[in-house]
Amino acid sequence: MNALIRSRIRTIPDFPKPGILFRDLTPLLADGQAFAATIDALARLADDFHLIAGIEARGFVFGAALAQKLGRGLLLLRKAGKLPGVTIGFDYGLEYGRDRLEVHRDDLPRGARILLVDDVLATGGTAEAAVRLLEAAGGEVTRALFVVELGDLGGGARLGVPYQSLVTF
Ligand code: AMP
Repeated sequence: MNALIRSRIRTIPDFPKPGILFRDLTPLLADGQAFAATIDALARLADDFHLIAGIEARGFVFGAALAQKLGRGLLLLRKAGKLPGVTIGFDYGLEYGRDRLEVHRDDLPRGARILLVDDVLATGGTAEAAVRLLEAAGGEVTRALFVVELGDLGGGARLGVPYQSLVTF
């Protein structure tokens, strides 16, 4: 089944800048069978948890579908300034400059067991920031799941929590 998922990932060279091989998941989303297979495969990797946290923006797509399938709630980890309520934030470094992820403080019960979801694990900087943010907000990240992992970048080693991906490039 992961062969179907892999076959629906389009590789676009030099996007968004020269030297980057962009793994485009829009063909997978546009294929109902492949999208359903992806969510089924993620669901098989999920263990005991209370809430899913999805990382803006593509993590929302997979996180929301998985939350629905498993009957769990969804936390949105958003870029700075997008959430209207009281937030907790975490600043992190990117290849160029800095970024910030935020979560609504009141949506996260203290001690909640959280399953983190995103589309692509690349350098791991974003997912690592998400783990740190959720921990700072009082949650416990029990596992992280990705559709795609770019294995040669070694991002998984940064997370400090168990993680799995469906397809490795
Ligand atoms: P990183 O912090 O380097 O792990 O990458 C963070 C985010 O950037 C991921 O959530 C992906 O959505 C996106 N991303 C990074 N590299 C790629 C790539 N080669 N192809 C597609 N998306 C990528």
